[in-house]
Amino acid sequence: MDFKLNIKDHFNIELPEDSIKENTRRQVKEACFSYAIPKKTSKPALIHVSLEMLTELGLTEEDAKTHDFLNVFTGNKVLEGTKPYAMCYGGHQFGNWAGQLGDGRAINLAEVTHNNKNWAIQLKGAGETPYSRTADGLAVLRSSIREYLCSEAMHYLGVPTTRALSLALSGDQVLRDVLYNGNHAYDKGAIVSRVAPSFLRFGSYEIFASRGDKKTLKTLVDYTIKNHYAHLGNPSKEVYIAFLKEVAKRGMDMVIHWQRVGFVHGVMNTDNMSILGLTIDYGPYGWLEGYDHGWTPNTTDRTHKRYRYGTQPQIVLWNLLQLANALYPLVEDATALEAILMEYREEVQVAYLKMMSNKLGLFEELKDDAVLVEDLEKLLQRSETDMTLFFRNLADLKMETWADWFSVIKDAFYSPEEIAGDLKEDWTKWFQRYGERLAVETLSDKARKVEMKKVNPKYVLRNYMAQLAIDAADNGDYSILGELFELLKQPYAEQPDAEKWFA
Ligand code: AMP
Ligand code: MG
Repeated sequence: MDFKLNIKDHFNIELPEDSIKENTRRQVKEACFSYAIPKKTSKPALIHVSLEMLTELGLTEEDAKTHDFLNVFTGNKVLEGTKPYAMCYGGHQFGNWAGQLGDGRAINLAEVTHNNKNWAIQLKGAGETPYSRTADGLAVLRSSIREYLCSEAMHYLGVPTTRALSLALSGDQVLRDVLYNGNHAYDKGAIVSRVAPSFLRFGSYEIFASRGDKKTLKTLVDYTIKNHYAHLGNPSKEVYIAFLKEVAKRGMDMVIHWQRVGFVHGVMNTDNMSILGLTIDYGPYGWLEGYDHGWTPNTTDRTHKRYRYGTQPQIVLWNLLQLANALYPLVEDATALEAILMEYREEVQVAYLKMMSNKLGLFEELKDDAVLVEDLEKLLQRSETDMTLFFRNLADLKMETWADWFSVIKDAFYSPEEIAGDLKEDWTKWFQRYGERLAVETLSDKARKVEMKKVNPKYVLRNYMAQLAIDAADNGDYSILGELFELLKQPYAEQPDAEKWFA
């Protein structure tokens, strides 16, 4: 092997495996995973490699230029001493139990230990597994670029997320019905290697609870605590309760970050909820441009809008309820589990208000802040306002020129000329209250500006930006992809040369 990884597998060593070895589609019982070898690709080519993730894994840029690197991270070569596998999980999709799902288009290569951190590496789009159901196990360039760029962007925004190591073309054509109208067309196949301490999901536990398989459920929960929540202590009923409590806390932390940066996941099914509170499975996600609690990027969810921006914190709670149900057989204490959910319900509101207050540069907690924030949200939704521009520009307001708030903010309005009459008056009143409230804070204009710019990003992966990168990449031009990748590493910095992306 041209490069060396410090491989230390746990998942496929410590957990029960599928006894059937053939790669056929089936229900897999009493097992956490099935062995599956990635599909050979015809002409793999790397498009981009993350230098930061290379370093995290103990690799160098030179390693990434080797033949073995290309072959391993596109599935053409199996790392020595490893046995790739697909994980078994189920999930609630759009509110309904969907039964077994599993890694249908992801194959785990190995786990790596470096600098006291453990990473699981998997290939997304590496071919079929026992969990592929009716699909092909492949991914196309479009969705792969979206996952690759967004997961790294989220990391640099300070949002807990799975990471990405590499993006490659498989060299194969993949058949897709892009518009869901029965017209199939070929698209370029691609493979993202993604990395996380674990890819376990809520659905990983639900599947065993749904089958009444308490034994495997306990094995997996104990494994999770031992490997990922060791600080909670040795598994016991109390520790299972503490486990749910911490998963709830991490889920809250994640979703409050989403609300802060305007990220809408789009498919918050329980199979897409990481047990570590990481943003996982970047599909039809999107970024709020116009501030709108009702917005969802998911066209298949346009009727019910279950996963719209404004409901994301409640959906995490709904998903936690499913996880609590799955853990119940091990705990048999509904009151204790319910208490955690009740606590989430209250705390998420506190956390949301604190986050929004901080976006406004309010750090003292005063009782009327909730009304100030609510009134702002109403105005934002009445006015067609770009979320990112609005909060970023807010930091530039100065006390002595406060009355002229409009000239500082106006670029954030889609149609500044429509901010007139009653609406303009309501905005002016709100800015007056905001100015009075800010006067209570001890920070100077300058210091407040610095603090506000730490929580209000300047650059996010706007939907059109990802699309530009995709369109160019489709024609073999990866320059925009590379440019965005670099830009989004410093989302809070001014980056004067990149001003065109702040519009
Ligand atoms: P997702 O929409 O990524 O949450 O996927 C839901 C389920 O469908 C998971 O079990 C995926 O592995 C599976 N799936 C999605 N796309 C494919 C595909 N192209 N081939 C096989 N399975 C897939
Ligand atoms: Mg998924």
